[in-house]
Amino acid sequence: EAAREILEEAADRGETRLGVEAMGLLDAYGIPTPEGGIAETPEDAVSLAHEVEGDVVMKIVSPDILHKSDIGGVKVGVPNEGVYDAYEDLVSRARNYQPDATVLGVQVQELVDTDRGTETILGVNRDPQFGPLVLFGLGGIFVEVMEDTTVRVAPVSEREADGMLSDIHAAPLLRGARGREPADLDALRESIERLSQLATDFPAILELDINPLVATADGVQAVDVRLTID
Ligand code: ADP
Ligand code: MG
Repeated sequence: EAAREILEEAADRGETRLGVEAMGLLDAYGIPTPEGGIAETPEDAVSLAHEVEGDVVMKIVSPDILHKSDIGGVKVGVPNEGVYDAYEDLVSRARNYQPDATVLGVQVQELVDTDRGTETILGVNRDPQFGPLVLFGLGGIFVEVMEDTTVRVAPVSEREADGMLSDIHAAPLLRGARGREPADLDALRESIERLSQLATDFPAILELDINPLVATADGVQAVDVRLTID
């Protein structure tokens, strides 16, 4: 199946850290990801952008760059006519940061309406004693500042997943406090269960973070992922 192939191919190449090039893992487990793909040339990027409706998000794809925005490696809201130059700019930023960085390409992604949604984090950490631990909480730029997360041992049942959604301090935000649109809690709960299943199925996954998993009234979108495998 698709997930096994992605992990085996990475292992064959001797890679232990994967980024957005591994989004197919999430697709394979039914965790929604934005439309788009990875371009290897500026021309590729332009044609990918034309397939996606509206402005796009572009991100450097490199196993040597784990925190893409730290080096200016994420451009949000690029219009079609800006895609060619943005590709070249992203690659040159990567080169400036680390001249010998491996650059796999540039991801061209549908722009997700983060203003209407809540950025959450959904992750897995393998514990030597308990096995995979699933973590959920407030994500995006808040993750370090707020430290609002909750953890369960996989496999996480539907009830436990529901418990995670109400455990965090930000739970009222997800339920639509202060005139906010309530997030699609069913989609969030399903994503928790599916990631728990992925971690249970593949012991090679030591660590995985979806940050952010954007939750809106219409569902969830995993816009970024990174993982460590052995
Ligand atoms: P990194 O965490 O490596 O810096 P991300 O892919 O998480 O890179 O992008 C950084 C931030 O940019 C995200 O937290 C999110 O706020 C925004 N962002 C990323 N992708 C999208 C997208 N497709 N639509 C809207 N905003 C995005
Ligand atoms: Mg991120």
